[in-house]
Amino acid sequence: MKTLGEILQESVREGELYEKLDNGFVRCFACGHACPIPAGQVGVCKVRFNRSGKLYVPWGYVGAVQCDPIEKKPFYHAYPGALAYSFGMLGCDLHCSYCQNWVTSQALRDSRALSSPLRATPETLVSDAVSQGAKVMVSTYNEPLITSEWAVAIFKEARAAGLKTGYVSNGNGTPQVMEYLRPWIDLYKIDLKSFDDRHYRQLGGRLQPILDTIQRTHAMGFWVEIVTLLVEGFNDSDDELKRLTEFLAGVSPDIPWHVTAFHKDYKMTDPSDTTPGTLKRAAAIGKAAGLRFVYAGNMPGRVGGLENTHCPDCGTLLIERHGYHISKYLMTREGNCPSCNAAIPGRWAERFAGQIASAPYLPDFRRGAQLTTLD
Ligand code: SF4
Repeated sequence: MKTLGEILQESVREGELYEKLDNGFVRCFACGHACPIPAGQVGVCKVRFNRSGKLYVPWGYVGAVQCDPIEKKPFYHAYPGALAYSFGMLGCDLHCSYCQNWVTSQALRDSRALSSPLRATPETLVSDAVSQGAKVMVSTYNEPLITSEWAVAIFKEARAAGLKTGYVSNGNGTPQVMEYLRPWIDLYKIDLKSFDDRHYRQLGGRLQPILDTIQRTHAMGFWVEIVTLLVEGFNDSDDELKRLTEFLAGVSPDIPWHVTAFHKDYKMTDPSDTTPGTLKRAAAIGKAAGLRFVYAGNMPGRVGGLENTHCPDCGTLLIERHGYHISKYLMTREGNCPSCNAAIPGRWAERFAGQIASAPYLPDFRRGAQLTTLD
């Protein structure tokens, strides 16, 4: 019986994000690890590997597919109410002990993560997205950077069908991968998990590449939103949150910052679940640092007005949310405040077209006759 790793090594093609080194080594540029990989070995992510001096990368399958409200990604300043057709592959370059997508992200490291990859083509996925009424195609659930060649193949098809595109990413990027992605991605969500390099090393990464990616994505014109999952005793001190939000406000005070609530998951079961009070404290620190759009997530109805968008100039309510549900949408067609006409940064549709769904559901692809697993 083949292992999952062996099965995945048959669904590959030569990658584009690498260079050849001496002695049969290759260097991968898809994420900030920039692994030098000897022939016959895999990179840290375990899904990209060196076969006879060439880098091979995942191709032709998905680890998960779901229709999500775009608010779940979360993007709050990009096409509110849109359906985001969301796909992921398997594997990750980090190994966070509290990962909420560990079944897909840690599938190559943890035998308890039983994920069956499903054969897919860009045409099949995009045609399903269009038939569901999706407006945005998003690579998510595992770290999309490590499967960027496959994501770009899907996004080219998605763009041709009139869809917008996005990444939900840990931000552990390189200059090469961001240049590669720029023509094909509209929206980029980055997890800024901590502002302490020692914490990032516990998760298998480093802080600086994530900070570089935040600055780079903003400068390159991606629409960027940032999420920090608040974990008690790990990243929720006033000092760390002050430094983190001052950094973000220094990149741009218009970047939306989402603080979201931790719940016990995967291997991290010691810290208490995040309270509404902790989210509100973090939000106050972010606003004091100069961020103009601060949101609290994962606690519908328990964080006061921190689910809503207000005009930062005059305070008018612009978008009212309860969880993923949009209950009021008052922006103008141009994306301005209806009271003072201030321009609200984001990517706005000309009109709010309602929501196809305010909760995730499985699309036809997951139920269709064409569904086959890799084996
Ligand atoms: S994606 Fe990152 S972890 Fe994987 S091989 Fe490339 S550089 Fe290494």
